[in-house]
Amino acid sequence: MARRFIVKDEDVSILDEKNIKINGPEVKHIQVLRHNVGENIIVNENVYKILSIGKDNIDLEYIEKAPLTGIPTSDITLYVAFLKSEKMDYLVQKAVEIGVKRIVPFFSKNVVVKLDEKARQKRKEKLQKVADEACKQCGRMDLVVVDDFLNFKELKESLKEGKVFFAYEASKDSLKKEIIDLKERKINNVGIIIGAEGGFTIQEAEELNSFKNVCCVSLGDRILRAETAAIKLLSIIIYEMEE
Ligand code: SAM
Repeated sequence: MARRFIVKDEDVSILDEKNIKINGPEVKHIQVLRHNVGENIIVNENVYKILSIGKDNIDLEYIEKAPLTGIPTSDITLYVAFLKSEKMDYLVQKAVEIGVKRIVPFFSKNVVVKLDEKARQKRKEKLQKVADEACKQCGRMDLVVVDDFLNFKELKESLKEGKVFFAYEASKDSLKKEIIDLKERKINNVGIIIGAEGGFTIQEAEELNSFKNVCCVSLGDRILRAETAAIKLLSIIIYEMEE
């Protein structure tokens, strides 16, 4: 299949019914990968033929809609406490590859990362870029959204729907039992909550556990790093939902 590039709306100019011109960072990327005039590439959701390659822009002719590959059938949102820089980037990349639909970073009491408004915006853009790159790399034809970062109160407010798995190392409840429930009730809308390096306070854990649709689950008697816990729980749930 042709290689996929993700170009922002503001970097696309419509030339006529069939042809577009693109500029921005993906132009450099297409050049570096030595694509030539006449070759087909995928831009966002469509296949285009390269008509001309300029210094800063590329003209393309629409061919057809690209095949919809790699799109998860399950609808999984990962709520993850804000981890330190490289760990967060790593987790976003892996979560996209495994098959989440949405990633929602949040701040709880034990999150050590502190970001002012400007830094938040910058981090959000960076994480979205990591997610876009991961979609391209693993052949997903949809996009994974990295949402606005939530505080703990906002996190609680957003947990109203579906079934939410709250990974908590002090839990004695069985993940297996909750997965059986998920499958029996054919629930497709799932949330996963993973805490920061320092975990949750007891009060936060009790608050999350008080929601009817939230189940508090153990991932075994070893304490996992947050990113390991997220990858383990996501992999198990997606495997069970999509088998
Ligand atoms: N509170 C812990 C501490 O400081 O000892 C560790 C937190 S752990 C590094 C980060 C997150 O991973 C936790 O908040 C939890 O969501 C998840 N986690 C790690 N090990 C887990 C386990 N055995 N069962 C369930 N969740 C786990």
